[in-house]
Amino acid sequence: AEAFNAAVAGAKALNAFIVETPEHALAAADAADKAKAEDNLKPLSGVPIGMKDLFATAGYQTTAASHMLEGFVPPYHATVAAKLFDAGAGMLGKLNLDQFAMGSSNETSYFGNVISPWRRNDGGNAPLAPGGSSGGSSAAIAARIVPAATGTDTGGSIRQPAAFTGISGIKPTYGRCSRYGIVAFASSLDQAGPMARDVRDCAILLEAMSGFDAKDATSLDLPVPDWEALLSGDLTGKRVGIPREYRVEGMPAEIEALWEKGIALVKDAGATVVDVSLPHTRYALATYYIIAPAEASSNLARYDGVRYGLRDLPDGANLQDMYAATRADGFGPEVKRRILIGTYVLSAGYYDAYYTKAQRVRALIARDFERAFETCDLLLTPTAPSAAFALGEKNADPLAMYLNDVFTVPASLAGLPAMSVPAGLDAKGLPLGLQIIGKPLDEQGVLDAGL
Ligand code: GLN
Repeated sequence: AEAFNAAVAGAKALNAFIVETPEHALAAADAADKAKAEDNLKPLSGVPIGMKDLFATAGYQTTAASHMLEGFVPPYHATVAAKLFDAGAGMLGKLNLDQFAMGSSNETSYFGNVISPWRRNDGGNAPLAPGGSSGGSSAAIAARIVPAATGTDTGGSIRQPAAFTGISGIKPTYGRCSRYGIVAFASSLDQAGPMARDVRDCAILLEAMSGFDAKDATSLDLPVPDWEALLSGDLTGKRVGIPREYRVEGMPAEIEALWEKGIALVKDAGATVVDVSLPHTRYALATYYIIAPAEASSNLARYDGVRYGLRDLPDGANLQDMYAATRADGFGPEVKRRILIGTYVLSAGYYDAYYTKAQRVRALIARDFERAFETCDLLLTPTAPSAAFALGEKNADPLAMYLNDVFTVPASLAGLPAMSVPAGLDAKGLPLGLQIIGKPLDEQGVLDAGL
């Protein structure tokens, strides 16, 4: 109990948790004791995990880090949450995130930013961003408060925060994990996945989280492999592609060096390294930042002050006034920006010029990957173009923030499994991550290379 209380106190300083639920974790611990006595332990018996506050949890507030959903208590669990609980896990709390998962630094949360437990070693002691949107998850794991947590990844929100905090995180193939009960951001991109200290823990969690769900129309009806049992760091015979278009202009030397280090590591593990081309990479960010806001503007139309959460009803207000007041008050600036961009690109006059075009480019990006995977089994890239930046550093400039997603969004647009694994520290003592992208459904290959 002392360690437990210390963990909760540590979490408070980082602002990683929106709601603490120690009773849930303790109940799971008791159940684990009982299961142990009966020799009936489950894969996650008693493991106290963190739950990104984008997953609906019955009886526990689920906010998406937004004022709009403050106090909203869903009557059911997200499928992924239910699966983790069924596997024996307990929930230590609901973790902070960027509001509606929109952001790369956790600074768009209504409940305040999360602080990374990392500090630079060169005297620059400005608090650092834990990455986003799963920044509560990454900070809580990096600070050793929880051994593992759930994340969601729409354009990099598992991988980039993992890279920023020196932990591992995998976004599986689109459709592996049910989206049922996850607050929707961009439905054709949203995927849940685990974040943990190492690859093996990610494999164990992913197994518990995956599987067909009739409640999600895009859920894949396929068996879930025993990824952990099959885990092997031997890459003999594997071909690892290095996409040349990821050598983006202005890439810092330390990221170049990180990539070289990764190439040496996969060679050591027995892989052959090949040069591949993904010619449409440079359009990926623009494509993502049209498609994701378009879907978000549609998904977020449901927050009308009637069905969920907040309702602002000024004196004498009619229905229209109530909608306007509620949405003006309930959504943060980044969410409003996305809704504005999304409604613009979906509007009658601009639909073809922006939305249709983006969908076409998305198909080209997916085809690039298909072609590349004719000559290789996996792709290796840096996860992000920089180490963690300071809180506030990119906040004033949305475009600078969006640019940080340059290496993660292509795999999201193509629905591919992709993982970030820690790959050492930069000169300032900050963690850097390498990204491994796999063929559809080849989580095993991705996890093996990550190991
Ligand atoms: N940073 C990206 C965005 O703001 C990705 C977010 C995510 O994957 N949820 O949209």
